[in-house]
Amino acid sequence: MDDKLQKLFCECKSELNGIGIDIENENIGDISIGIGKRNCKRYGCCKQENPIKSTKYIEKIGRNRYIKYGQYKSHKIEISKWVMNLNDDIIKNTIMHEIIHCFPNCSNHGEHFKKYASYINSRLGYDISRVGDKRKDMAESNIQEEAEKYNYKIECTNCGYNFLRKRLNCNFSRKYRCGKCGGKLQTMKGIFYKI
Ligand SMILES: [Zn+2]
Ligand SMILES: [Zn+2]
Repeated sequence: MDDKLQKLFCECKSELNGIGIDIENENIGDISIGIGKRNCKRYGCCKQENPIKSTKYIEKIGRNRYIKYGQYKSHKIEISKWVMNLNDDIIKNTIMHEIIHCFPNCSNHGEHFKKYASYINSRLGYDISRVGDKRKDMAESNIQEEAEKYNYKIECTNCGYNFLRKRLNCNFSRKYRCGKCGGKLQTMKGIFYKI
């Protein structure tokens, strides 16, 4: 899974290079990417470390003031595990989104972030501002991760009790009886998912 992530990250990097954005440039700092360890509902996140002191500024939100920095020397991007089960274009959209957070003055979704996002969207056909349909994406991801495929469904002809098996002895239904009622079992071949 991590190899796939590194591969897609490299693709994003070279696509950015193609439109004149070099993320290995010194203003951006080091970027590392990995798969989030916790089961997180977000698509991804970017942790900024080692701020460059001279880029310090104060941000006012309501009555509160926050110390912020325009640039950091290192960035750790984490892509959530469940996102890795989705299509490559959704994974790459997430990677690109987090890469932009590494650019100077882009730690929030403000005007600098938006400028990069729309440039990358228009030149490379991304949809970075896409607010993903999280419920749909998560459901899709979980189906691939959790639903196991079975080849046989065995059902009791008497009480309807049923269960799934991946492999089956050829005379299973002759040998065994229903565990609940002792009735005859019938087997069906096909593709079944345990829900
Ligand atoms: Zn973001
Ligand atoms: Zn039965």
